[in-house]
Amino acid sequence: MPAEFKNEPLTDFSQPENRKAFETALAKVQGDLGREHPLVIGGERIEVGKTFDSIDPSKPSQIIGKFQSATTRETEMAIAAAEKAFESWKRETPQRRADLLFRAAAILRERKHEFSSVMVLEVGKSWAEADGDTAEAIDFLQFYGREALRYASEQPLTRIPGEKNELRYIPLGVGLVVPPWNFPLAIMAGMTTAAVVTGNTVVLKPSSDAPAIAYQFVLALEEAGMPPGVVNFLTGSGSAIGDTLVESPRIRFISFTGSKEVGLRINEKAAQPRPGQIWIKRVVAEMGGKDFILVDETADLDAAAAGIVAAAFGYQGQKCSACSRAIVHQTVYDEVVKKVVEKTRALKVGPTTSADANVGPVINSGAERKVLQYIETGKREGRLLVGGEKAPGEGYFIQPTVFGDVKPGARLAQEEIFGPVLAILPTPSYEEGARIANGTEYGLTGSLYSRDRQRLEQAKDVLHVGNLYLNRKCTGALVGVHPFGGFNMSGTDSKAGGRDYLLLFLQAKAISEVF
Ligand code: NAP
Repeated sequence: MPAEFKNEPLTDFSQPENRKAFETALAKVQGDLGREHPLVIGGERIEVGKTFDSIDPSKPSQIIGKFQSATTRETEMAIAAAEKAFESWKRETPQRRADLLFRAAAILRERKHEFSSVMVLEVGKSWAEADGDTAEAIDFLQFYGREALRYASEQPLTRIPGEKNELRYIPLGVGLVVPPWNFPLAIMAGMTTAAVVTGNTVVLKPSSDAPAIAYQFVLALEEAGMPPGVVNFLTGSGSAIGDTLVESPRIRFISFTGSKEVGLRINEKAAQPRPGQIWIKRVVAEMGGKDFILVDETADLDAAAAGIVAAAFGYQGQKCSACSRAIVHQTVYDEVVKKVVEKTRALKVGPTTSADANVGPVINSGAERKVLQYIETGKREGRLLVGGEKAPGEGYFIQPTVFGDVKPGARLAQEEIFGPVLAILPTPSYEEGARIANGTEYGLTGSLYSRDRQRLEQAKDVLHVGNLYLNRKCTGALVGVHPFGGFNMSGTDSKAGGRDYLLLFLQAKAISEVF
């Protein structure tokens, strides 16, 4: 058994040698942009004659790479390759499957800044956000490797006379993995390897906004010794090939993370058995959030304001856990608003190739349009306090924007925006604030800042979110420490990075022998 799991340390960019190392990695990755990359099916490199571009959202004229637009033909090929590989991979020992993840973790660690640099360029992460994403990916590999060994060990059962009983966890079959672009290494790698380490094989369809980092990860798995067909890399638009994949009777399970709209569609389509299908497809769907930070009249207001700004504008608000609602007791409202506005004004917006940028671009032109529309809605629904416009530059930059005096039923307070927009809602009491906090269709993350012990205890029961934080921001879940997943329309509460997660990729066989 390997040593106890520990989270990967983050890079301290205040150290000149770390900044230098990151700059070197960034330059190396920048020197290798614009190339065409194939599909990887059964270990074969396949080109289909039609590609799409992955671009740099800080500089949309810059092509990160060209990726294949897979069609139904390659989709069927990828499923067939995964089916073939399943026959041997399911019989591989748990130790050898776990060792693949440990070796891949070592490769990621060794070239950490290069993986992070791909994310700086492909999805506009700041250095610190990209570094956190890579560290989380390493954590998932280290954690799930250990977890797979735990599930493979003898399981406790009640003994009865005359029988020998055993419970074995076995894989499900061929899975479809559909990750989002916002944690394009960590979430993608976590979803993929949780499926694979438990003996399944998969078709990995990365987000069309982040295929380059997924491709680099598949190469790292190959370098770590992954047999052909265990992970099949299939790029292409979700709207073009998604239904074929989801509806295939040969797909046993679907692991999805993304928007509520796509997640619900997948769930509905997967529920319908197709001719030849002999199982109920299992769907794990982790979806959006409308997360909050609730500040009561006893709270440390500096800590609360710092937590609100970090959680609202970290990665431009493009985290499922981002704080998009600050719900503030009316007696401290003005003071909190003043502090939040000051801290927001201090943020530096710009291309994330610069070490100093805290706020980069939103992911693409569609996201920019959508966020700017929400800002216009906000101007009618609330009081604009700071920001409110597109920021200068070629990229999809939007000023970090704060609206005050937003009502609980407003669109700004109900709908996931997924951009640098914060709504502040006053509340006359903590109790009413808790009702406002719970008053959306989502239930992913939330925080309470308070110095009232009784209230903090009561909040553990009352605030209905999958990840509740007390006196800290609502983003930044750590693998193994904060198992992650939400309630209601936020998804199936799979608790990624937790000890129940691998069960979602397994089925248990109980074996009983009379002696
Ligand atoms: P998205 O638009 O739903 O896309 C997610 C994935 O689904 C992409 O790979 C996409 O591929 C694919 N897809 C699109 N249409 C499909 C279809 N009809 N069938 C099958 N797959 C399809 O979400 P996103 O913009 O990437 O991610 C942002 C969302 O993810 C936010 O709502 C955020 O809250 C949520 N999120 C949730 C969590 C969590 O743990 N709860 C974590 C991170 C993000 P294409 O790119 O090719 O369209």
